[in-house]
Amino acid sequence: MSKRDYYEVLGVSKSATVEEIKTSYRKLALKYHPDRNPDDKEAEDKFKEAAEAYEVLSDPTKRQRYDQFGHDGLRGGADYSHFTNINDIFSHFGDIFGGSSIFDDIFGGASSRRQGRRRTYGERGTDIQIKMPLTIEEIAFGVEKTIKIKRFVECKKCNATGAKSGSGKVTCPVCNGSGEVRQVSRSMFGQFVNIQTCQNCNGRGEVIKEKCPECNGDGRVPFEDTIKISIPAGVEENNYIPVQGKGNAGKQGGMSGDLLVIIQEKPHEVFKRIGNNVIYTLDVTFPHLVLGAEFNIETLDGTEKINIPAGSQPNDTIKLANKGIQNLNSNKRGEFIVMLNLVIPKKISAKEKSIITELSTQENFASPNIAKKSKGFFGSFL
Ligand SMILES: [Zn+2]
Ligand SMILES: [Zn+2]
Repeated sequence: MSKRDYYEVLGVSKSATVEEIKTSYRKLALKYHPDRNPDDKEAEDKFKEAAEAYEVLSDPTKRQRYDQFGHDGLRGGADYSHFTNINDIFSHFGDIFGGSSIFDDIFGGASSRRQGRRRTYGERGTDIQIKMPLTIEEIAFGVEKTIKIKRFVECKKCNATGAKSGSGKVTCPVCNGSGEVRQVSRSMFGQFVNIQTCQNCNGRGEVIKEKCPECNGDGRVPFEDTIKISIPAGVEENNYIPVQGKGNAGKQGGMSGDLLVIIQEKPHEVFKRIGNNVIYTLDVTFPHLVLGAEFNIETLDGTEKINIPAGSQPNDTIKLANKGIQNLNSNKRGEFIVMLNLVIPKKISAKEKSIITELSTQENFASPNIAKKSKGFFGSFL
């Protein structure tokens, strides 16, 4: 079956903002949610389709890849074809969003479907979180990073089964292959039967006859992995980039968790980030403002000449359009803003003192308030 275009699925334009995508997805998720459409296969398919489209388009890295290469660009990425029921998607999303998934927003707290979800064999491996400090330059233009992490990967010796080659598996003696253990308890209200997943076989119903010597029956081994991460321009503190399947492999063939790369902004000596704008504070003196001046300053794009017009005021700004940080969702860049910070020297020479003293007697260098008042109410100044 050929896949529909993700933008088409969500009914948004290619330039849709993250907010638009989220809004549209919520609408579809509500409309096609299985709670509202019991036993409706078509609605379930639409629900899954929308979830998949949302997962890709709400993630800047995946969206960029999808925009560039289409569905092919996401190989090894979002693929829900292996999910056998809708509850698996819930648990999957819960993991990605650290428990507070978009579904919690929609349905007001943990979904009841999650609690009643079908037991699946092979527990999913855990996610790994790493922090990624970035300079403002790296954030402005995007960057490729290569990192090394220690994670569990599938044991090749036993093909992730945990069994010594040729030894195979036997029926779990604790649950007799059912994967469940019944506990009967009595109280004054009557008899209760509590069904729990068998701890011995983890619900599989089978146990390994002989453990693989390489992984000691875990089906996974520790490994130092080298991973390339492409970080798009415009990310912010605490944004994270999920790298699917690069977390820990689950025990005995359970699917791998994700690697979550959490962005941190390294402080810069002179540049300050506000949104996608970069603020640069330029110290100037009084004559610079009065007479105007030219300066060469270091920007994100190298040296730029800026021109302070005569008659500038303290804290005036000079804006260099399109020289700030690139927007996460478009090619537009913010502004590079030079703020004129008036610095008054604390110590001056005798000569400077005499020049300024003389200047202060001149008409335009008296306090403007006094000058105005003098002209308006008291006649001429001095
Ligand atoms: Zn093994
Ligand atoms: Zn068992």
